[in-house]
Amino acid sequence: MKTISEAQRKQILIAHDGRRKQAEAYFWHRVRKTRGCWIWTGCTNNGYGYIGRSKAHRRMYTMMIGPIPDGYHIHHTCGTKLCVKPVHLVAMSEQDHIDEHPGRGWW
Ligand SMILES: [Zn+2]
Ligand SMILES: [Zn+2]
Repeated sequence: MKTISEAQRKQILIAHDGRRKQAEAYFWHRVRKTRGCWIWTGCTNNGYGYIGRSKAHRRMYTMMIGPIPDGYHIHHTCGTKLCVKPVHLVAMSEQDHIDEHPGRGWW
């Protein structure tokens, strides 16, 4: 069996890491940090920030906090749809989220 050398293994790891860093750099480049919120400056749809087909604040949540349980919404405690600051994001069930915003749009 042919095994790769330690040097080759390192090269592969560096290449992987480079691609991940590039994707993250692309993401962070579109975040404008203010004193309060971190505002998404990339694509938007319906008032939400998007990165590719994902909502930017959901991407941030999975990147910085962890996986979002199935069917869960990410609620903005600051009320700013375009905000992606992890401490302003809370995962909640759809029903809890509806209760959180009686009679108005979700964000
Ligand atoms: Zn915010
Ligand atoms: Zn909400």
